[in-house]
Amino acid sequence: MTETKISPVGIIRSPYKEKFAIPRQPSLAPAGTGELHLLAPYNNPEMVKGLEQFSHLWLIFLFHQTTAQGWHPTVRPPRLGGNERIGVFASRSTFRPNNLGLSAVELKGIHIEKENIILQLGSVDLLDGTPIIDIKPYIPYADSYPDALAGYAQLAPENDKLQVSFSEVFMQQIQQYQNAYPQLQPLIEQVIQQDPRPAYKHKNTDLQQYGMQLFDFNIRWQVQGQLATVIDLEKLNK
Ligand code: SAM
Repeated sequence: MTETKISPVGIIRSPYKEKFAIPRQPSLAPAGTGELHLLAPYNNPEMVKGLEQFSHLWLIFLFHQTTAQGWHPTVRPPRLGGNERIGVFASRSTFRPNNLGLSAVELKGIHIEKENIILQLGSVDLLDGTPIIDIKPYIPYADSYPDALAGYAQLAPENDKLQVSFSEVFMQQIQQYQNAYPQLQPLIEQVIQQDPRPAYKHKNTDLQQYGMQLFDFNIRWQVQGQLATVIDLEKLNK
């Protein structure tokens, strides 16, 4: 078999500093926007000539953080409650042969300044630091099949959404960060609405606390029934 050497053409910058709580597809948390920084020798303006004509891109990337954990022929998608097994090729699981992911994202702009070429993106489902293997324009006539069948993932996960409220402590804390991080509070709400808890925790009625890192903050929250409460946030020293 032929083996091909692959080297990343760019790297993602996103608010998601850990795997936990990243949305499962790019459109699910619109406030979670990202940037793609091209790496040398691909930081060449010639390589993005004409790309500004496209509103959306396909990003092919490495699930670099889970590569070492390997893969299995079957997986348990969260959309099926985390119990039912399906084939890895019938899933978008991160644990797959060759560790490649594929996301369709909005291209909002291209910033070129000397050797720095930055593609400004809409919302992403990618960990900060994700290596990008290739970039291709999204072509609606060829890439979109509105009547396609999509099994267990036919519709966006609307039914299981959590309701999110913010504690008084949080509302006081966020005031000082709202100018520097206008996306932070909407992102917290959108991310928690998607219920990032492991599927088996959904039936747990205990008021367990969860922590997640977004931008430079640790955020604590808890869930009771379908109601999540954001407890507080802590600015990390970076
Ligand atoms: N849209 C892509 C696809 O369909 O191939 C990714 C879908 S996958 C279900 C999205 C999840 O990948 C995120 O929720 C996050 O847990 C995980 N993820 C994102 N970036 C990653 C990375 N660099 N390494 C490992 N896992 C990552």
